[in-house]
Amino acid sequence: MPSQRFVVVVGCGRLGALLADRISSQGDSVVVVDREEDAFSLLAPDYTGFKVEGDATEVEVLRRANVEKADIVIAATNGDNVNILISLAARNLSGVPRVLARISNMRRQAFYGRLGVEALSPTAIVAEYFLDQIDGRRDA
Ligand code: AMP
Repeated sequence: MPSQRFVVVVGCGRLGALLADRISSQGDSVVVVDREEDAFSLLAPDYTGFKVEGDATEVEVLRRANVEKADIVIAATNGDNVNILISLAARNLSGVPRVLARISNMRRQAFYGRLGVEALSPTAIVAEYFLDQIDGRRDA
């Protein structure tokens, strides 16, 4: 069995809460961060990870989330600039080996990649999936 990883998920909205729940139920160690206390109510009742309340653009909040010890950081807030700021801090200041960022504006995706941040657009991924579905039905 692979050893337990330590994952920090930033943003506990619809995307972050889903990720934190799944990662925690997989047996990995998780900290989820959000600036709104209410956001944690989106977590499943059996969520066993940690929660940190605070604005993740503040270094002290990332420190409380133990970002410098993370194997993976996922920046999943609803703000591109916030996600990039967190990702660059995690990657370059804390040396986190793997950093993924939720991004809606994909124009700078390649640039983020060069900075060591895997930038993903949920909208673009869903669009690809829908297009595959349409094509699959047409080919069937
Ligand atoms: P959603 O779009 O539903 O995935 O929600 C995005 C989440 O990101 C919300 O719960 C916001 O409170 C959270 N969020 C946005 N900016 C920050 C920030 N600077 N620090 C921590 N959480 C944030």
